[in-house]
Amino acid sequence: MRGTVLYGPGDVRFEDREDPRIEKPTDAVIRIAATCVCGSDLWPYRGLQPIDGPTPMGHEYCGVVEEVGSAVRSVKPGQFVVGSFATSDNTCPNCLHGYQSSCVHREFMTRAQAPMLRVPLADGTLVPTKDVPPDDLAPSLLTTSDVLGTGWFAADAANVKPGSTVVVVGDGAVGLLAVLSAKQMGAERIIAMSRHEKRQRLAREFGATDVVTERGDEGVARIVDMTNGIGADSVLECVGTPESMMQAVHCTRKGGCVGYVGVPHGVELKGEDLFFAHVHLHGGPAPVRRYLPELIDLVLNGTINPGKVFDLVLPLDQVAEGYRAMDERRAIKTLLRP
Ligand SMILES: [Zn+2]
Repeated sequence: MRGTVLYGPGDVRFEDREDPRIEKPTDAVIRIAATCVCGSDLWPYRGLQPIDGPTPMGHEYCGVVEEVGSAVRSVKPGQFVVGSFATSDNTCPNCLHGYQSSCVHREFMTRAQAPMLRVPLADGTLVPTKDVPPDDLAPSLLTTSDVLGTGWFAADAANVKPGSTVVVVGDGAVGLLAVLSAKQMGAERIIAMSRHEKRQRLAREFGATDVVTERGDEGVARIVDMTNGIGADSVLECVGTPESMMQAVHCTRKGGCVGYVGVPHGVELKGEDLFFAHVHLHGGPAPVRRYLPELIDLVLNGTINPGKVFDLVLPLDQVAEGYRAMDERRAIKTLLRP
């Protein structure tokens, strides 16, 4: 088969690779129904995160089980499955506490931008649907694998509750789906920070009540102003830069919560800033596996339509264009179909 490999900054190739096969009895091999390019793929693509030689890419996936190892019990060939970007046994203490993305046996998925994929720890990583869902639901189901699960975690980690005032920092796919998540959790006011018209529209469609275009200190001043000088109950940080993190901390009211899911690049927090900010900080790689059953149900019963974040659909062999379009911010998120 052919699969996606990153060779260096701006150099994505779709090239011959070995077919995945069962390597351990706990593995499954799935035939990908849909995969996509992640905002986090852009860090190495832009040369902002070093890679160790040619690197197979892709960690968001859903599809039909082709084959399972001899120890796999909970999924079987022919079933449609969604899995997290991080594998988990779903039985260790970290998993049982709901932090499957810190499973003691965790591996981060890669190689999903391909027609076939090996998934380790299949029993603990994959969630099967009752029937094979209609193909038009594949994009929304795919989002549960990472971007929706991550936005949902941002809202959960920031303790969004019915009636909350929420600020979302970041208008990438995760930020937009964090808006959707906050809406589902009953937030009353959701302020999206975005200066991109198309993304603002989608944010409003997903439930944003206000849009703030200012950034940094000006952005903070606007939020403080809009919240009677107090700040927001919950701030969802979905970028991962020093500016966005500090913007999030300073938009939060005393005793409020920051949920941070943007992978940090160069973020350093000063003890004194944190001390006097008086906020709760919780975040990290989202334990998507914890939320998958619920999120899959919300998609299947038509409550949410997170697949709207995909504004570019390409065949897998045009994956390089998918990266370019996102890098140049022509696309919010690229869906790839085998
Ligand atoms: Zn575990």
